[in-house]
Amino acid sequence: MKEVIVATGNKGKLREFAELLKGVVDTVLSPADFGGLPEVEEDGETFEANAVKKARSAALLTGKPVLADDSGLCVDFLGGRPGVYSARFAGEGAGDAANNALLLSEMAGVPAEKRQAAFHCVIALCLPDGSCRTFDGAISGVILEEARGEGGFGYDPLFLVPEYGQTFSELPMEIKNAISHRGRAMQMLREALAADANG
Ligand code: IMP
Repeated sequence: MKEVIVATGNKGKLREFAELLKGVVDTVLSPADFGGLPEVEEDGETFEANAVKKARSAALLTGKPVLADDSGLCVDFLGGRPGVYSARFAGEGAGDAANNALLLSEMAGVPAEKRQAAFHCVIALCLPDGSCRTFDGAISGVILEEARGEGGFGYDPLFLVPEYGQTFSELPMEIKNAISHRGRAMQMLREALAADANG
C-alpha cells in the first residue's frame, strides 16, 4: 500500500503503527499532516463500531486509506464492562487511578476463579469508497486484588497474564507489545497487507 493515515492523536500509537507497517506501507501519515482531523464521538456499542466510525469518516474526508483502533478491558464478572467505556469507567475525564480504584471496588470479594478478563483491540482499515476491514486482537488474563508493577498505563497493573505470572505493568515492554491485544491486531493487519501486496 502506498500510503495510509493513522487516525490518532496519540504519538506513541502513531510510532507503534509506523514501526509495524514498515515494508508493507510506503508512507504513514498522521492527522497533523492534514492540519488535524475533526474529533469523532466514540458512541458505538462495540470496539468495532468505534474503530470503523473513526476510520471511515477520516477516509471519506481525506480521500485516503485510514487506520483507526479502539480498545478496552472486558471483565467477565462485570458482564463485559468497562468495555467501550474503559477510558471513562469512573466518569468523563477520569484518570487511570480513579478507573483502577473503581474496578478494584467492583471486584472486591470476588473469588479468584471468577476474576477472568480480556483486553480487546479492533483496528479498522477504511478506504475512500467507505469500505472497511477490521482486525480483532485479544488477550485473556485475571484481575488482581491489588496493583502490581510500575510500567504501562491504564489497567496494566491489575491485569495478570497467567502464562507469565506477571502483570502487564511488570512485563518488559517488548513482551507486552508482542502478546497484547493491540500487538495481535497489528500483526493481523500486517499479514493482511502483506498478502494484498503479494496477491
Ligand atoms: P483506547 O481505545 O486505545 O484509547 O483505549 C481505551 C482505554 O482502554 C484506555 O484508556 C485504557 O483505560 C484501556 N486500555 C486499552 N489498552 C490498554 C492496555 O494495553 N493496558 C491498559 N489499559 C488499556
